[in-house]
Amino acid sequence: MEAPRTSVDVIVVGAGFAGLYMLHRARSAGFSVHCFEAGAGVGGTWFWNRYPGARCDVPSLEYSYEFDAQLQQEWNWSEKYSTQPEILRYIEHVAQRFDLLRDITFNVRVTAAVFDEAMSRWTVTTNSGKVISCQFLVMATGCLSSPNIPKLPREEVFNGKVYHTGQWPTDGVDFTGQRVAVIGTGSSGVQSIPIIARQAQHLTVLQRTAAYCVPARNAPLDTSYVQSVKDNYKEFRQKNRLTRAALGGDTPTGTTGAAVTPEHERRMIFEERWQRGGLVFQGAFNDTLTNRESNELFADFVREKISSIVKNQSTARALMPKNVFGCKRLCVDNGYYETFNRENVALVDLNEHVLEGFTANGVMVGSQELPVDAVVFATGFDAMTGALNKISITGRNGQTLRETWSAGPVNYLGLGINGFPNLFTITGPGSPSVLTNMLVSIQHHVEWITDCLSWLRSNQHATIEVSPTAQDQWVQHVNTVADATLYQSCSSWYLGANVPGKPRVFMPLPGFPAYVQRCADVARENYLGFLLD
Ligand code: FAD
Repeated sequence: MEAPRTSVDVIVVGAGFAGLYMLHRARSAGFSVHCFEAGAGVGGTWFWNRYPGARCDVPSLEYSYEFDAQLQQEWNWSEKYSTQPEILRYIEHVAQRFDLLRDITFNVRVTAAVFDEAMSRWTVTTNSGKVISCQFLVMATGCLSSPNIPKLPREEVFNGKVYHTGQWPTDGVDFTGQRVAVIGTGSSGVQSIPIIARQAQHLTVLQRTAAYCVPARNAPLDTSYVQSVKDNYKEFRQKNRLTRAALGGDTPTGTTGAAVTPEHERRMIFEERWQRGGLVFQGAFNDTLTNRESNELFADFVREKISSIVKNQSTARALMPKNVFGCKRLCVDNGYYETFNRENVALVDLNEHVLEGFTANGVMVGSQELPVDAVVFATGFDAMTGALNKISITGRNGQTLRETWSAGPVNYLGLGINGFPNLFTITGPGSPSVLTNMLVSIQHHVEWITDCLSWLRSNQHATIEVSPTAQDQWVQHVNTVADATLYQSCSSWYLGANVPGKPRVFMPLPGFPAYVQRCADVARENYLGFLLD
Protein backbone atom coordinates (compact mmCIF):
# COMPACT_ATOMS: atom_id res chain seq x y z
CA MET A 1 0.00 0.00 0.00
CA GLU A 2 1.28 3.46 -0.91
CA ALA A 3 0.85 6.23 1.69
CA PRO A 4 -2.49 7.92 0.94
CA ARG A 5 -2.16 11.37 -0.59
CA THR A 6 -3.73 14.33 1.15
CA SER A 7 -6.07 14.96 -1.73
CA VAL A 8 -7.74 12.62 -4.23
CA ASP A 9 -10.68 12.72 -6.60
CA VAL A 10 -12.57 9.91 -4.89
CA ILE A 11 -12.51 8.41 -1.41
CA VAL A 12 -14.17 5.05 -1.01
CA VAL A 13 -15.08 3.89 2.52
CA GLY A 14 -15.12 0.10 2.87
CA ALA A 15 -13.28 -2.67 1.02
CA GLY A 16 -15.97 -5.31 0.63
CA PHE A 17 -17.40 -6.33 -2.74
CA ALA A 18 -18.73 -2.77 -3.24
CA GLY A 19 -15.67 -0.79 -2.22
CA LEU A 20 -13.27 -2.93 -4.22
CA TYR A 21 -15.23 -2.67 -7.42
CA MET A 22 -15.76 1.08 -6.88
CA LEU A 23 -12.01 1.54 -6.47
CA HIS A 24 -11.28 -0.47 -9.60
CA ARG A 25 -13.97 1.15 -11.73
CA ALA A 26 -13.24 4.76 -10.72
CA ARG A 27 -9.49 4.24 -11.10
CA SER A 28 -10.02 2.69 -14.55
CA ALA A 29 -12.05 5.78 -15.50
CA GLY A 30 -9.02 7.94 -14.73
CA PHE A 31 -9.87 9.20 -11.24
CA SER A 32 -7.40 9.17 -8.36
CA VAL A 33 -8.96 7.03 -5.65
CA HIS A 34 -8.18 6.01 -2.11
CA CYS A 35 -10.04 3.48 0.00
CA PHE A 36 -10.21 3.18 3.80
CA GLU A 37 -11.16 -0.08 5.48
CA ALA A 38 -11.69 -0.68 9.21
CA GLY A 39 -10.74 -4.36 8.91
CA ALA A 40 -7.26 -5.80 8.49
CA GLY A 41 -8.04 -7.09 5.00
CA VAL A 42 -10.43 -6.95 2.07
CA GLY A 43 -13.74 -8.80 2.01
CA GLY A 44 -16.19 -6.86 4.21
CA THR A 45 -18.96 -9.30 5.16
CA TRP A 46 -16.70 -12.21 4.26
CA PHE A 47 -13.80 -10.84 6.29
CA TRP A 48 -15.84 -10.40 9.48
CA ASN A 49 -18.38 -13.26 9.41
CA ARG A 50 -16.13 -16.27 10.02
CA TYR A 51 -18.60 -18.16 12.18
CA PRO A 52 -19.00 -21.92 11.59
CA GLY A 53 -21.31 -22.58 8.66
CA ALA A 54 -21.04 -19.09 7.13
CA ARG A 55 -21.70 -19.28 3.41
CA CYS A 56 -23.66 -17.41 0.76
CA ASP A 57 -27.29 -18.32 0.13
CA VAL A 58 -27.36 -17.07 -3.44
CA PRO A 59 -25.61 -19.62 -5.68
CA SER A 60 -21.96 -18.69 -6.19
CA LEU A 61 -22.27 -18.71 -9.96
CA GLU A 62 -24.65 -15.76 -9.42
CA TYR A 63 -23.09 -14.33 -6.26
CA SER A 64 -19.85 -13.24 -7.94
CA TYR A 65 -18.60 -10.34 -10.03
CA GLU A 66 -19.76 -10.08 -13.59
CA PHE A 67 -17.72 -7.09 -14.71
CA ASP A 68 -14.73 -9.04 -16.01
CA ALA A 69 -15.45 -11.84 -18.47
CA GLN A 70 -12.05 -13.47 -17.98
CA LEU A 71 -12.38 -13.48 -14.20
CA GLN A 72 -15.73 -15.21 -14.31
CA GLN A 73 -14.43 -17.75 -16.82
CA GLU A 74 -11.27 -18.52 -14.87
CA TRP A 75 -12.59 -18.67 -11.31
CA ASN A 76 -13.94 -22.07 -10.22
CA TRP A 77 -16.35 -22.37 -7.32
CA SER A 78 -16.34 -25.74 -5.62
CA GLU A 79 -19.90 -25.82 -4.25
CA LYS A 80 -23.30 -24.46 -5.21
CA TYR A 81 -23.16 -22.17 -2.13
CA SER A 82 -19.58 -21.32 -1.27
CA THR A 83 -18.22 -21.17 2.23
CA GLN A 84 -16.93 -17.98 3.82
CA PRO A 85 -13.25 -19.01 3.38
CA GLU A 86 -13.78 -19.68 -0.32
CA ILE A 87 -15.59 -16.37 -0.90
CA LEU A 88 -12.84 -14.54 0.99
CA ARG A 89 -10.21 -16.24 -1.18
CA TYR A 90 -12.11 -15.05 -4.24
CA ILE A 91 -12.26 -11.45 -3.01
CA GLU A 92 -8.57 -11.52 -2.13
CA HIS A 93 -7.83 -12.88 -5.59
CA VAL A 94 -9.82 -10.04 -7.17
CA ALA A 95 -7.97 -7.44 -5.08
CA GLN A 96 -4.62 -8.81 -6.30
CA ARG A 97 -5.67 -9.43 -9.86
CA PHE A 98 -6.74 -5.81 -10.32
CA ASP A 99 -3.87 -4.40 -8.22
CA LEU A 100 -6.25 -2.80 -5.74
CA LEU A 101 -4.25 -3.17 -2.53
CA ARG A 102 -1.91 -0.26 -3.29
CA ASP A 103 -4.81 2.19 -2.90
CA ILE A 104 -6.31 0.79 0.30
CA THR A 105 -5.44 1.68 3.90
CA PHE A 106 -6.48 -1.11 6.29
CA ASN A 107 -7.17 -1.03 10.02
CA VAL A 108 -8.43 2.53 9.69
CA ARG A 109 -11.95 3.68 10.39
CA VAL A 110 -13.39 6.80 8.80
CA THR A 111 -14.84 8.77 11.71
CA ALA A 112 -15.94 12.05 10.11
CA ALA A 113 -16.59 13.71 6.77
CA VAL A 114 -17.34 17.42 6.38
CA PHE A 115 -18.37 19.14 3.15
CA ASP A 116 -16.44 22.33 2.51
CA GLU A 117 -18.86 24.54 0.58
CA ALA A 118 -16.26 27.09 -0.55
CA MET A 119 -14.03 24.38 -2.07
CA SER A 120 -16.84 21.97 -3.05
CA ARG A 121 -14.84 19.15 -1.48
CA TRP A 122 -15.16 16.67 1.36
CA THR A 123 -12.67 16.58 4.22
CA VAL A 124 -12.45 13.06 5.58
CA THR A 125 -10.97 12.21 8.99
CA THR A 126 -9.96 8.77 10.24
CA ASN A 127 -9.37 7.31 13.69
CA SER A 128 -5.63 7.30 12.95
CA GLY A 129 -5.72 11.09 12.72
CA LYS A 130 -5.34 11.15 8.95
CA VAL A 131 -7.12 14.03 7.18
CA ILE A 132 -7.66 13.75 3.45
CA SER A 133 -9.69 15.79 0.99
CA CYS A 134 -11.69 14.52 -1.97
CA GLN A 135 -14.17 15.76 -4.52
CA PHE A 136 -16.40 12.69 -4.32
CA LEU A 137 -17.09 10.51 -1.31
CA VAL A 138 -18.47 7.04 -1.91
CA MET A 139 -19.82 5.12 1.06
CA ALA A 140 -19.32 1.39 0.48
CA THR A 141 -19.80 0.78 4.19
CA GLY A 142 -22.15 -2.19 3.79
CA CYS A 143 -25.78 -2.84 4.69
CA LEU A 144 -24.95 -5.58 7.18
CA SER A 145 -21.66 -4.45 8.67
CA SER A 146 -22.62 -2.84 11.97
CA PRO A 147 -23.25 -5.71 14.42
CA ASN A 148 -26.33 -5.50 16.63
CA ILE A 149 -25.29 -6.74 20.06
CA PRO A 150 -28.07 -6.57 22.63
CA LYS A 151 -26.99 -5.20 25.99
CA LEU A 152 -27.81 -7.96 28.46
CA PRO A 153 -27.47 -7.12 32.14
CA ARG A 154 -24.41 -8.31 34.07
CA GLU A 155 -22.32 -9.45 31.10
CA GLU A 156 -19.21 -8.42 33.06
CA VAL A 157 -19.80 -11.15 35.69
CA PHE A 158 -19.90 -13.98 33.13
CA ASN A 159 -16.84 -16.25 33.35
CA GLY A 160 -17.37 -17.83 29.94
CA LYS A 161 -16.80 -16.51 26.43
CA VAL A 162 -19.12 -14.25 24.41
CA TYR A 163 -19.08 -14.09 20.61
CA HIS A 164 -21.00 -12.27 17.88
CA THR A 165 -21.29 -14.04 14.53
CA GLY A 166 -20.41 -10.80 12.70
CA GLN A 167 -17.17 -10.31 14.66
CA TRP A 168 -15.93 -13.88 14.74
CA PRO A 169 -12.31 -14.49 15.87
CA THR A 170 -9.97 -14.94 12.91
CA ASP A 171 -8.53 -18.14 14.40
CA GLY A 172 -11.96 -19.73 14.79
CA VAL A 173 -13.50 -21.18 17.96
CA ASP A 174 -13.45 -24.79 19.09
CA PHE A 175 -16.61 -25.62 21.06
CA THR A 176 -15.63 -29.23 21.69
CA GLY A 177 -16.83 -30.35 25.12
CA GLN A 178 -18.53 -27.02 25.83
CA ARG A 179 -22.06 -26.04 26.79
CA VAL A 180 -23.10 -23.33 24.34
CA ALA A 181 -26.07 -20.98 24.03
CA VAL A 182 -26.86 -19.41 20.66
CA ILE A 183 -29.09 -16.34 20.85
CA GLY A 184 -30.93 -15.60 17.61
CA THR A 185 -32.36 -17.69 14.80
CA GLY A 186 -31.99 -15.48 11.73
CA SER A 187 -29.68 -16.45 8.84
CA SER A 188 -26.44 -16.51 10.89
CA GLY A 189 -28.04 -18.55 13.68
CA VAL A 190 -29.60 -20.96 11.21
CA GLN A 191 -26.24 -21.46 9.45
CA SER A 192 -24.13 -21.87 12.60
CA ILE A 193 -26.47 -23.91 14.83
CA PRO A 194 -26.11 -27.28 12.97
CA ILE A 195 -22.30 -27.04 13.05
CA ILE A 196 -22.02 -25.86 16.66
CA ALA A 197 -24.42 -28.67 17.66
CA ARG A 198 -22.09 -31.25 16.15
CA GLN A 199 -19.13 -29.88 18.08
CA ALA A 200 -20.51 -28.83 21.44
CA GLN A 201 -21.29 -31.07 24.37
CA HIS A 202 -24.66 -29.32 24.64
CA LEU A 203 -26.32 -26.53 22.68
CA THR A 204 -29.27 -24.42 23.77
CA VAL A 205 -30.91 -22.34 21.06
CA LEU A 206 -32.62 -19.24 22.40
CA GLN A 207 -35.29 -18.24 19.92
CA ARG A 208 -37.36 -15.05 19.92
CA THR A 209 -38.90 -15.34 16.44
CA ALA A 210 -39.02 -18.63 14.57
CA ALA A 211 -37.55 -18.37 11.07
CA TYR A 212 -38.84 -19.79 7.81
CA CYS A 213 -36.05 -21.96 6.43
CA VAL A 214 -35.79 -23.73 3.11
CA PRO A 215 -33.18 -26.41 2.47
CA ALA A 216 -30.13 -25.29 0.50
CA ARG A 217 -29.54 -28.68 -1.16
CA ASN A 218 -25.93 -27.64 -1.27
CA ALA A 219 -23.58 -29.91 -3.24
CA PRO A 220 -20.29 -29.84 -5.11
CA LEU A 221 -20.78 -28.12 -8.46
CA ASP A 222 -21.13 -30.38 -11.41
CA THR A 223 -18.44 -29.47 -13.98
CA SER A 224 -20.72 -29.87 -16.99
CA TYR A 225 -23.33 -27.58 -15.38
CA VAL A 226 -20.62 -25.00 -14.63
CA GLN A 227 -19.41 -25.20 -18.22
CA SER A 228 -22.93 -24.71 -19.55
CA VAL A 229 -23.28 -21.56 -17.43
CA LYS A 230 -19.86 -20.28 -18.43
CA ASP A 231 -20.63 -20.87 -22.10
CA ASN A 232 -23.63 -18.56 -21.78
CA TYR A 233 -22.66 -16.44 -18.82
CA LYS A 234 -23.89 -13.20 -20.35
CA GLU A 235 -27.40 -14.56 -20.96
CA PHE A 236 -27.40 -16.29 -17.56
CA ARG A 237 -26.64 -12.99 -15.79
CA GLN A 238 -29.11 -11.07 -17.94
CA LYS A 239 -31.93 -13.47 -16.99
CA ASN A 240 -31.13 -12.86 -13.33
CA ARG A 241 -31.24 -9.11 -13.78
CA LEU A 242 -34.77 -9.36 -15.13
CA THR A 243 -36.09 -10.93 -11.93
CA ARG A 244 -37.39 -8.92 -8.95
CA ALA A 245 -34.55 -10.09 -6.71
CA ALA A 246 -31.86 -10.30 -9.42
CA LEU A 247 -31.39 -14.03 -8.89
CA GLY A 248 -32.71 -17.40 -9.98
CA GLY A 249 -33.39 -16.39 -13.60
CA ASP A 250 -33.25 -20.07 -14.58
CA THR A 251 -36.22 -20.82 -12.33
CA PRO A 252 -38.96 -18.52 -13.53
CA THR A 253 -41.44 -17.19 -10.99
CA GLY A 254 -44.84 -18.88 -11.02
CA THR A 255 -48.33 -17.43 -11.45
CA THR A 256 -50.54 -16.17 -8.63
CA GLY A 257 -51.38 -18.61 -5.87
CA ALA A 258 -55.08 -18.30 -6.70
CA ALA A 259 -54.45 -19.41 -10.30
CA VAL A 260 -53.35 -22.85 -9.08
CA THR A 261 -56.53 -24.22 -7.54
CA PRO A 262 -56.15 -27.97 -7.24
CA GLU A 263 -54.47 -28.69 -3.94
CA HIS A 264 -52.27 -31.45 -5.39
CA GLU A 265 -50.92 -29.14 -8.10
CA ARG A 266 -49.98 -26.51 -5.56
CA ARG A 267 -48.27 -29.15 -3.48
CA MET A 268 -46.35 -30.37 -6.51
CA ILE A 269 -45.11 -26.86 -7.24
CA PHE A 270 -44.00 -26.30 -3.65
CA GLU A 271 -42.49 -29.78 -3.37
CA GLU A 272 -40.54 -29.38 -6.59
CA ARG A 273 -39.00 -26.10 -5.35
CA TRP A 274 -38.40 -27.50 -1.87
CA GLN A 275 -36.42 -30.34 -3.46
CA ARG A 276 -34.57 -27.90 -5.71
CA GLY A 277 -33.64 -25.87 -2.61
CA GLY A 278 -32.71 -22.24 -2.04
CA LEU A 279 -34.36 -18.85 -2.27
CA VAL A 280 -36.19 -19.69 -5.52
CA PHE A 281 -38.75 -21.43 -3.29
CA GLN A 282 -40.18 -17.96 -2.65
CA GLY A 283 -40.90 -17.54 -6.38
CA ALA A 284 -43.30 -20.49 -6.58
CA PHE A 285 -46.04 -17.88 -6.91
CA ASN A 286 -45.64 -14.30 -8.03
CA ASP A 287 -47.85 -12.83 -5.32
CA THR A 288 -46.08 -14.35 -2.30
CA LEU A 289 -45.53 -10.99 -0.72
CA THR A 290 -48.59 -9.14 -1.94
CA ASN A 291 -51.44 -11.56 -1.29
CA ARG A 292 -52.20 -12.92 2.16
CA GLU A 293 -53.92 -16.08 0.90
CA SER A 294 -50.99 -17.03 -1.33
CA ASN A 295 -48.63 -16.22 1.49
CA GLU A 296 -50.51 -18.48 3.88
CA LEU A 297 -50.09 -21.38 1.42
CA PHE A 298 -46.31 -21.01 1.64
CA ALA A 299 -46.44 -20.66 5.41
CA ASP A 300 -48.58 -23.80 5.81
CA PHE A 301 -46.31 -25.82 3.56
CA VAL A 302 -43.18 -24.90 5.55
CA ARG A 303 -44.95 -25.53 8.87
CA GLU A 304 -45.95 -28.99 7.65
CA LYS A 305 -42.36 -29.67 6.63
CA ILE A 306 -41.15 -28.66 10.11
CA SER A 307 -43.67 -30.98 11.66
CA SER A 308 -42.49 -33.86 9.47
CA ILE A 309 -38.76 -33.23 10.08
CA VAL A 310 -38.71 -32.50 13.82
CA LYS A 311 -39.63 -35.57 15.86
CA ASN A 312 -40.63 -33.86 19.11
CA GLN A 313 -43.90 -32.16 18.16
CA SER A 314 -43.76 -29.65 20.95
CA THR A 315 -40.34 -28.49 19.66
CA ALA A 316 -41.70 -28.58 16.11
CA ARG A 317 -44.57 -26.30 17.10
CA ALA A 318 -42.17 -23.86 18.75
CA LEU A 319 -40.09 -23.82 15.54
CA MET A 320 -43.10 -23.01 13.37
CA PRO A 321 -43.05 -19.34 12.35
CA LYS A 322 -46.20 -17.38 13.07
CA ASN A 323 -45.45 -14.30 10.99
CA VAL A 324 -46.03 -13.68 7.29
CA PHE A 325 -43.81 -15.85 5.08
CA GLY A 326 -40.89 -13.87 3.62
CA CYS A 327 -41.50 -10.60 5.48
CA LYS A 328 -38.29 -11.42 7.33
CA ARG A 329 -35.41 -12.64 5.18
CA LEU A 330 -35.95 -16.25 4.21
CA CYS A 331 -33.21 -18.51 5.63
CA VAL A 332 -31.51 -21.15 3.53
CA ASP A 333 -30.40 -24.00 5.73
CA ASN A 334 -28.16 -27.04 5.82
CA GLY A 335 -29.90 -29.35 8.28
CA TYR A 336 -31.28 -26.69 10.64
CA TYR A 337 -34.60 -28.31 11.57
CA GLU A 338 -32.94 -31.77 11.72
CA THR A 339 -30.55 -30.42 14.36
CA PHE A 340 -33.41 -30.32 16.86
CA ASN A 341 -33.62 -34.13 16.69
CA ARG A 342 -30.21 -34.35 18.34
CA GLU A 343 -30.10 -35.31 21.98
CA ASN A 344 -27.63 -32.57 22.84
CA VAL A 345 -29.79 -29.73 21.49
CA ALA A 346 -32.59 -27.88 23.29
CA LEU A 347 -34.81 -25.03 22.15
CA VAL A 348 -35.95 -22.27 24.48
CA ASP A 349 -38.72 -19.97 23.34
CA LEU A 350 -37.87 -16.49 24.60
CA ASN A 351 -41.50 -15.44 24.31
CA GLU A 352 -42.29 -17.86 27.11
CA HIS A 353 -39.06 -17.56 29.08
CA VAL A 354 -37.54 -14.11 29.32
CA LEU A 355 -33.79 -13.78 28.81
CA GLU A 356 -32.87 -11.80 31.91
CA GLY A 357 -29.12 -11.47 31.71
CA PHE A 358 -25.85 -13.13 32.60
CA THR A 359 -24.70 -14.92 35.73
CA ALA A 360 -21.14 -15.97 36.54
CA ASN A 361 -21.82 -19.41 35.07
CA GLY A 362 -24.29 -18.75 32.29
CA VAL A 363 -27.49 -16.85 31.55
CA MET A 364 -30.75 -16.41 33.43
CA VAL A 365 -33.72 -17.49 31.34
CA GLY A 366 -37.24 -17.52 32.79
CA SER A 367 -35.85 -17.11 36.33
CA GLN A 368 -33.66 -20.21 35.94
CA GLU A 369 -29.94 -20.34 35.44
CA LEU A 370 -28.81 -21.96 32.22
CA PRO A 371 -25.16 -22.91 32.85
CA VAL A 372 -23.04 -22.40 29.71
CA ASP A 373 -19.38 -21.98 28.79
CA ALA A 374 -20.01 -19.82 25.75
CA VAL A 375 -22.73 -17.50 24.45
CA VAL A 376 -23.01 -16.78 20.74
CA PHE A 377 -24.97 -13.71 19.71
CA ALA A 378 -26.41 -14.41 16.27
CA THR A 379 -28.38 -11.20 16.58
CA GLY A 380 -27.68 -9.63 13.21
CA PHE A 381 -26.97 -6.05 12.35
CA ASP A 382 -28.07 -2.46 12.64
CA ALA A 383 -28.92 -2.85 8.99
CA MET A 384 -28.60 -0.37 6.13
CA THR A 385 -28.10 2.81 8.15
CA GLY A 386 -25.95 1.53 11.06
CA ALA A 387 -22.50 1.90 9.50
CA LEU A 388 -23.34 5.28 7.95
CA ASN A 389 -24.75 6.74 11.15
CA LYS A 390 -21.59 5.73 13.02
CA ILE A 391 -19.67 8.26 10.91
CA SER A 392 -20.13 11.95 11.70
CA ILE A 393 -21.16 13.23 8.26
CA THR A 394 -21.77 16.97 7.88
CA GLY A 395 -23.09 18.39 4.63
CA ARG A 396 -24.20 21.87 3.59
CA ASN A 397 -24.96 24.48 6.30
CA GLY A 398 -23.71 22.22 9.07
CA GLN A 399 -26.52 19.74 8.38
CA THR A 400 -25.62 16.28 9.74
CA LEU A 401 -26.69 12.94 8.30
CA ARG A 402 -27.74 11.70 11.73
CA GLU A 403 -30.21 14.60 12.08
CA THR A 404 -31.37 14.25 8.49
CA TRP A 405 -32.09 10.56 9.07
CA SER A 406 -33.34 10.87 12.64
CA ALA A 407 -36.85 9.77 11.61
CA GLY A 408 -35.51 7.19 9.14
CA PRO A 409 -33.41 7.40 5.99
CA VAL A 410 -34.38 9.79 3.19
CA ASN A 411 -32.62 10.04 -0.16
CA TYR A 412 -33.06 9.78 -3.93
CA LEU A 413 -32.66 6.42 -5.70
CA GLY A 414 -30.81 5.15 -2.63
CA LEU A 415 -27.79 6.86 -4.15
CA GLY A 416 -27.65 10.47 -2.96
CA ILE A 417 -29.03 12.72 -0.22
CA ASN A 418 -30.19 16.33 -0.37
CA GLY A 419 -27.78 18.56 1.56
CA PHE A 420 -24.85 16.19 0.93
CA PRO A 421 -23.37 17.06 -2.48
CA ASN A 422 -20.96 14.63 -4.18
CA LEU A 423 -21.71 11.91 -1.62
CA PHE A 424 -22.92 8.55 -2.90
CA THR A 425 -24.12 5.48 -1.05
CA ILE A 426 -23.77 2.01 -2.58
CA THR A 427 -26.85 -0.16 -2.03
CA GLY A 428 -28.23 2.52 0.27
CA PRO A 429 -31.72 2.46 1.78
CA GLY A 430 -34.31 3.35 -0.85
CA SER A 431 -32.68 1.00 -3.39
CA PRO A 432 -33.40 -2.75 -3.84
CA SER A 433 -30.12 -3.74 -2.13
CA VAL A 434 -30.81 -6.38 0.55
CA LEU A 435 -33.92 -7.64 -1.26
CA THR A 436 -31.70 -8.75 -4.13
CA ASN A 437 -28.62 -10.72 -5.02
CA MET A 438 -26.32 -8.04 -3.63
CA LEU A 439 -23.58 -8.59 -6.15
CA VAL A 440 -25.90 -7.51 -8.94
CA SER A 441 -27.09 -4.45 -7.02
CA ILE A 442 -23.55 -3.50 -6.03
CA GLN A 443 -22.27 -3.69 -9.61
CA HIS A 444 -25.22 -1.71 -10.87
CA HIS A 445 -24.60 1.08 -8.35
CA VAL A 446 -20.84 1.18 -8.89
CA GLU A 447 -21.32 1.47 -12.65
CA TRP A 448 -24.04 4.12 -12.32
CA ILE A 449 -21.90 6.20 -9.93
CA THR A 450 -18.76 5.94 -12.09
CA ASP A 451 -20.69 6.91 -15.21
CA CYS A 452 -22.07 9.86 -13.28
CA LEU A 453 -18.59 10.98 -12.16
CA SER A 454 -17.28 10.72 -15.73
CA TRP A 455 -20.25 12.71 -17.02
CA LEU A 456 -19.71 15.43 -14.41
CA ARG A 457 -16.06 15.65 -15.40
CA SER A 458 -16.86 15.84 -19.13
CA ASN A 459 -19.50 18.49 -18.54
CA GLN A 460 -17.32 20.42 -16.09
CA HIS A 461 -19.68 20.24 -13.15
CA ALA A 462 -18.00 20.52 -9.74
CA THR A 463 -20.95 19.22 -7.72
CA ILE A 464 -24.06 17.10 -7.98
CA GLU A 465 -26.74 17.14 -5.28
CA VAL A 466 -30.18 15.63 -4.94
CA SER A 467 -32.99 18.22 -5.24
CA PRO A 468 -35.40 18.40 -2.28
CA THR A 469 -38.36 17.67 -4.57
CA ALA A 470 -36.78 14.58 -6.11
CA GLN A 471 -35.95 13.31 -2.65
CA ASP A 472 -39.48 13.85 -1.30
CA GLN A 473 -40.99 12.13 -4.32
CA TRP A 474 -38.59 9.20 -4.06
CA VAL A 475 -39.29 8.66 -0.36
CA GLN A 476 -43.00 8.72 -1.23
CA HIS A 477 -42.41 6.23 -4.05
CA VAL A 478 -40.50 3.80 -1.81
CA ASN A 479 -43.30 3.97 0.77
CA THR A 480 -45.98 3.39 -1.85
CA VAL A 481 -44.18 0.33 -3.25
CA ALA A 482 -43.54 -1.08 0.23
CA ASP A 483 -47.14 -0.41 1.32
CA ALA A 484 -48.40 -2.62 -1.51
CA THR A 485 -46.52 -5.58 -0.02
CA LEU A 486 -46.74 -7.64 3.17
CA TYR A 487 -43.20 -6.69 4.19
CA GLN A 488 -44.33 -4.24 6.84
CA SER A 489 -46.39 -6.83 8.69
CA CYS A 490 -43.63 -8.14 10.95
CA SER A 491 -40.81 -6.76 13.07
CA SER A 492 -37.87 -7.27 10.73
CA TRP A 493 -34.47 -5.68 10.35
CA TYR A 494 -35.72 -4.35 6.99
CA LEU A 495 -37.83 -2.06 9.20
CA GLY A 496 -35.14 -1.42 11.78
CA ALA A 497 -37.26 -3.25 14.34
CA ASN A 498 -34.34 -5.32 15.70
CA VAL A 499 -32.53 -2.29 17.10
CA PRO A 500 -34.06 -0.59 20.15
CA GLY A 501 -34.93 3.06 19.42
CA LYS A 502 -34.37 2.82 15.67
CA PRO A 503 -37.15 4.50 13.62
CA ARG A 504 -39.43 1.94 12.01
CA VAL A 505 -39.23 2.65 8.32
CA PHE A 506 -39.15 0.01 5.59
CA MET A 507 -35.72 0.71 4.11
CA PRO A 508 -35.13 -1.27 0.89
CA LEU A 509 -37.15 -0.87 -2.31
CA PRO A 510 -38.76 -4.05 -3.69
CA GLY A 511 -38.31 -4.69 -7.42
CA PHE A 512 -34.93 -4.63 -9.17
CA PRO A 513 -35.81 -4.29 -12.90
CA ALA A 514 -38.10 -1.23 -12.53
CA TYR A 515 -35.50 0.42 -10.32
CA VAL A 516 -32.71 -0.13 -12.86
CA GLN A 517 -34.88 1.36 -15.57
CA ARG A 518 -35.53 4.42 -13.41
CA CYS A 519 -31.81 4.93 -12.73
CA ALA A 520 -31.06 4.65 -16.44
CA ASP A 521 -33.78 7.20 -17.26
CA VAL A 522 -32.41 9.63 -14.69
CA ALA A 523 -28.90 9.38 -16.16
CA ARG A 524 -30.16 9.68 -19.74
CA GLU A 525 -32.05 12.85 -18.84
CA ASN A 526 -28.82 14.47 -17.63
CA TYR A 527 -29.33 13.37 -14.05
CA LEU A 528 -32.89 14.48 -13.65
CA GLY A 529 -33.71 15.22 -10.03
CA PHE A 530 -30.15 16.26 -9.24
CA LEU A 531 -28.90 19.86 -8.95
CA LEU A 532 -25.67 20.46 -10.87
CA ASP A 533 -23.10 23.17 -10.25
P1 FAD B 1 -19.58 -5.15 3.29
O1 FAD B 1 -19.14 -6.43 2.77
O2 FAD B 1 -20.35 -5.14 4.55
O3 FAD B 1 -18.29 -4.24 3.44
C1 FAD B 1 -18.34 -2.99 4.06
C2 FAD B 1 -16.97 -2.71 4.63
O4 FAD B 1 -16.95 -1.35 5.06
C3 FAD B 1 -16.65 -3.55 5.85
O5 FAD B 1 -15.47 -4.26 5.64
C4 FAD B 1 -16.47 -2.54 6.98
O6 FAD B 1 -15.42 -2.87 7.84
C5 FAD B 1 -16.16 -1.28 6.20
N1 FAD B 1 -16.54 -0.07 6.93
C6 FAD B 1 -17.76 0.26 7.40
N2 FAD B 1 -17.71 1.47 8.01
C7 FAD B 1 -16.44 1.89 7.89
C8 FAD B 1 -15.76 3.07 8.30
N3 FAD B 1 -16.39 4.05 8.94
N4 FAD B 1 -14.44 3.20 8.01
C9 FAD B 1 -13.78 2.22 7.34
N5 FAD B 1 -14.37 1.09 6.93
C10 FAD B 1 -15.68 0.93 7.20
N6 FAD B 1 -25.95 -11.09 0.13
C11 FAD B 1 -26.34 -11.78 -0.95
O7 FAD B 1 -26.78 -11.18 -1.92
N7 FAD B 1 -26.24 -13.12 -0.99
C12 FAD B 1 -25.78 -13.85 0.04
O8 FAD B 1 -25.72 -15.05 -0.04
C13 FAD B 1 -25.38 -13.14 1.23
N8 FAD B 1 -24.94 -13.80 2.30
C14 FAD B 1 -24.60 -13.10 3.42
C15 FAD B 1 -24.15 -13.79 4.54
C16 FAD B 1 -23.82 -13.11 5.68
C17 FAD B 1 -23.31 -13.84 6.87
C18 FAD B 1 -23.98 -11.69 5.75
C19 FAD B 1 -23.67 -10.92 7.00
C20 FAD B 1 -24.41 -11.00 4.64
C21 FAD B 1 -24.71 -11.69 3.46
N9 FAD B 1 -25.13 -11.01 2.32
C22 FAD B 1 -25.49 -11.73 1.21
C23 FAD B 1 -25.11 -9.56 2.29
C24 FAD B 1 -23.66 -9.03 2.09
O9 FAD B 1 -23.45 -8.08 3.06
C25 FAD B 1 -23.48 -8.51 0.68
O10 FAD B 1 -23.76 -9.53 -0.24
C26 FAD B 1 -22.08 -7.97 0.33
O11 FAD B 1 -21.04 -8.77 0.81
C27 FAD B 1 -21.94 -6.55 0.81
O12 FAD B 1 -20.77 -5.99 0.31
P2 FAD B 1 -20.42 -4.48 0.63
O13 FAD B 1 -19.09 -4.22 0.10
O14 FAD B 1 -21.54 -3.60 0.20
O15 FAD B 1 -20.45 -4.37 2.23
